Amino acid sequence: MLGPPGAGKGTQGKRIAQHYGIPQISTGDILREHVKQATGLGLIAKDIMARGELVPDELLYDMVAERLRRADCERGFILDGFPRTPAQAGWLDAFLENEFFEKAAKCLPIVIRIDVDYNELLLRLTGRRTCPVCGRIYNVHLQPPRVDELCDVDGSKLVTRNDDREEVIRERLLAYEQQTRPVAEYYERKGRLIPVDGDLPVDEVSGTLFREIATHSGC
Ligand code: AMP
Repeated sequence: MLGPPGAGKGTQGKRIAQHYGIPQISTGDILREHVKQATGLGLIAKDIMARGELVPDELLYDMVAERLRRADCERGFILDGFPRTPAQAGWLDAFLENEFFEKAAKCLPIVIRIDVDYNELLLRLTGRRTCPVCGRIYNVHLQPPRVDELCDVDGSKLVTRNDDREEVIRERLLAYEQQTRPVAEYYERKGRLIPVDGDLPVDEVSGTLFREIATHSGC
């Protein structure tokens, strides 16, 4: 799943993962866990993430490889937030070709890019709140919880991500334009890019995604 921060990759990725019974793998989530646990990688990534910049490619490969080698990925997986640079896309193609497809059915990855208007992204990111317990994502402007700042599912106090502050958001959107947009071009050249209009209501976007996946998952 490609798309700028706030496009809905996390929300839509969760729905697809649940539907197919496969894991949703978010490199941002894994990195945030490393930061929380203060691992070697977490200590390096912390400041970079707080500035809204990308963590260097070579620091991510072992982390992603380790996650994709776990048994729950054998039937497939959703990648959310990876690859984010053309180098990562090249690494992923080689990894899937050399390693993953030996074990699983030889299906080409489906590459979806969710496109959203810039001002809408700002609104979504500044209003985003997450439940620290179940991971459900809300938006105080667009999809507020039933009770202010509390999760509908488990009543936990919702949190704002450290990098969802306006000055950091601008950096993250810039990183997307400069470093991640070329990833979509990489897949477009290979005829594998499926652009989806992410400005539509959440359920409509999900409907489009499920249709596209059904059409393209002919393995
Ligand atoms: P996300 O939750 O996907 O918005 O990611 C949060 C932050 O984690 C990003 O702003 C980056 O600093 C870092 N990050 C996540 N995935 C990657 C990646 N594939 N490459 C480099 N940095 C990443």
